[in-house]
Amino acid sequence: MKPIGFFGGTFDPIHLGHLRMAIEVMETFALESLTLLPNKVPPHRPQPIASAEQRLTMTQLAVKDIAGLTVDDLELKRDGDSYTVDTLEHLARKFPGRPLLFMMGMDSLLSFTAWHGWQRILQLASLAVCCRPGHRLEPDALDAQLSTRLSTGPIIGPGQIVPLTTTELAISATDIRTRVKNGQRLDFLLPRAVVEYIQTSGLYRADSASC
Ligand code: ATP
Repeated sequence: MKPIGFFGGTFDPIHLGHLRMAIEVMETFALESLTLLPNKVPPHRPQPIASAEQRLTMTQLAVKDIAGLTVDDLELKRDGDSYTVDTLEHLARKFPGRPLLFMMGMDSLLSFTAWHGWQRILQLASLAVCCRPGHRLEPDALDAQLSTRLSTGPIIGPGQIVPLTTTELAISATDIRTRVKNGQRLDFLLPRAVVEYIQTSGLYRADSASC
């Protein structure tokens, strides 16, 4: 059975790095659709600058005209930390018997054993891991509980970790927030509609602890 794909993130803001990797994961696994899940309270990183609602709006604007990409606000409806493990428990109940594929960048895999419930995550889903400039996979340096799960696919159940050779785009939300603060242009880093939303709302302009 074909897996269903999910992409969790803070998306503060969503950018072309996120969108390109989503397209390549969809193509690699022949997914009919892939769902982006903006988090409410990211537990493993500094808190976002944009509100959950603003990040949801930007994510919706970004995928509006992209076939196959959808957004689900399920993490925004939950109080407290947005733990991926809770989200996957919910999705496993919602889609019984369907393999779940959760995608992430290489930086996320390298810190994955610090995630709350990471062992349970691997009982619920497989991971599609995309290249990210500055973060290399060194299987010998990876926790043995992860390296033994490295796989080239296809996805046949939970617990596989599939590193992909995806287009490397050195774009980060942190860099985008810095550019806004410095009054620099955002062209070709994120979708036009999201650039316009940031400009109209005045997001990231004020001095803040974002970078
Ligand atoms: P920030 O700079 O604020 O930390 P970010 O650009 O890393 O943000 P997130 O929303 O935190 O974006 O990332 C969500 C997921 O997307 C993570 O798994 C991260 O590894 C991945 N990701 C983000 N940008 C890229 C990129 N340019 N290439 C590959 N993976 C990426």
